[in-house]
Amino acid sequence: MRIFVVFAHPEHRSFNGALLRIAVETLEAADHDVRVSDLYAMGFDPTSGRHNFTSVRDPDYFKQQLEELHATEVGGFVPAIEEELEKLEWCDLMIWQFPLWWFGLPAILKGWVDRVFAMGRTYGGGRFYEEGIFAGKRSFISLTTGGPAAAYEHGGFNGDIDPILRPIQRGMLRFVGFDVLAPHIVFGPAHQSDQDLRAALYAYAQRLRQIESESPIDVGEY
Ligand SMILES: Cc1cc2nc3c(=O)[nH]c(=O)nc-3n(C[C@H](O)[C@H](O)[C@H](O)COP(=O)(O)OP(=O)(O)OC[C@H]3O[C@@H](n4cnc5c(N)ncnc54)[C@H](O)[C@@H]3O)c2cc1C
Repeated sequence: MRIFVVFAHPEHRSFNGALLRIAVETLEAADHDVRVSDLYAMGFDPTSGRHNFTSVRDPDYFKQQLEELHATEVGGFVPAIEEELEKLEWCDLMIWQFPLWWFGLPAILKGWVDRVFAMGRTYGGGRFYEEGIFAGKRSFISLTTGGPAAAYEHGGFNGDIDPILRPIQRGMLRFVGFDVLAPHIVFGPAHQSDQDLRAALYAYAQRLRQIESESPIDVGEY
């Protein structure tokens, strides 16, 4: 498979960094082609604006989605976005590796979605969800939390994790057509023993070795 990993953590020695490394090692050892977008290392700019485009549809009033439609027609995305779009189009499986920040994506990854998931090129014209442009491709999110697993159960301190992940899994990945595999969650790595963390890395590698045989999950509705 062609596998695209988007990594959003500012520290390579973090547990997220360890999860990224074990993923790349394991997937390459299984003969998959792997490409990584390391957003902090790339200095990826998460803000959107006219700088997303080399083309201009309306010079007087900036409306991002209309500029995206136009850029799709004329090839008007700047290289920083065009390169990410090409990785999306290239891959069979996409993985996002990130820490849960404020019940959501770190801003750098949210901004990557805001800029790269462009209207026309990644959705629109009746192409959403099962008929989406990326239908047939698969994806999953691999994340860590600060809180322990018990905090993310129904009725727990923070509440059920599934609705927290739904805007990402349904509103972003499924919206543009990706099938979504089960999220891979390591709860509270900062509070786990070294032995448990090594076991978590091993378990992730085991999962990745069989990732081709996994079936998508139902991400649910709002
Ligand atoms: C802005 C912000 C918002 C946040 N919002 C939330 C929130 O909404 N909900 C929530 O639950 N949490 C939240 N957090 C906490 C955050 O999710 C966790 O701090 C993060 O997920 C922990 O992952 P990490 O990779 O940063 O771990 P780290 O703290 O970097 O690592 C944890 C442990 O892993 C060890 N480790 C690293 N590499 C290896 C290795 N190869 N083998 C074994 N051990 C290793 C490290 O030594 C460390 O002890 C927030 C944090 C921030 C900064």
